[in-house]
Amino acid sequence: MDFAEAQKEALDCRKCGPLCQARTKVVFGEGPLNAGLFIVGEAPGFNEDREGKPFQGASGMLLDRLLGSVGLDRERVYLTNLVKCRPPEGRSPKPAEINACRPYLMAQLAAVDPKVVIALGDLASRSLTGRKESASRIRGRVIPLDGRYVFPTLSLSRALYTPADRALLISDFSRLPELLASERPSTYETLNVSRATTAEREPLQPGLW
Ligand code: SF4
Repeated sequence: MDFAEAQKEALDCRKCGPLCQARTKVVFGEGPLNAGLFIVGEAPGFNEDREGKPFQGASGMLLDRLLGSVGLDRERVYLTNLVKCRPPEGRSPKPAEINACRPYLMAQLAAVDPKVVIALGDLASRSLTGRKESASRIRGRVIPLDGRYVFPTLSLSRALYTPADRALLISDFSRLPELLASERPSTYETLNVSRATTAEREPLQPGLW
């Protein structure tokens, strides 16, 4: 499935009954398709569900500040979540829901082909690294996968309410300029995410946003 197919299918997707019944809008993701940095959260929240855009509200403001602290802004970053619909009452997505939505995430990763992937929180960390450790144990480690650096760290919601966790998140984000400036990893251990050639990549996401 390529990016355009994934986007079209996801916007009308009904694979997870409880999620598609409860959602207001599908939150597919947004950002340039040539972004070097790709950020994956767990699931849309209340504000994202209403806006149809990822990382809104307080979490979005914290993310903007974290990106700004290293000279980045969200327009240069591809932003998405493991699942594209808000789980009922803001619960965590279930493994079956994450698996059902995974083809869309893989299509996004293949199209954007970022150098650095930040996985926010336990579920994104486990899903994107294939490792079982919690994000708090594995955070700050750079894991080369599929010719990219996967960089697990804490969730924004956790950092919003706990100053000590916010400090750890700030510390992890401070490593981004160095990672983005470095060469891609030469190891290609894989989670089955293919890499697009530069010629195949589109410069900008087609204008849904
Ligand atoms: S979470 Fe993903 S797989 Fe489930 S209904 Fe929404 S778009 Fe479809």
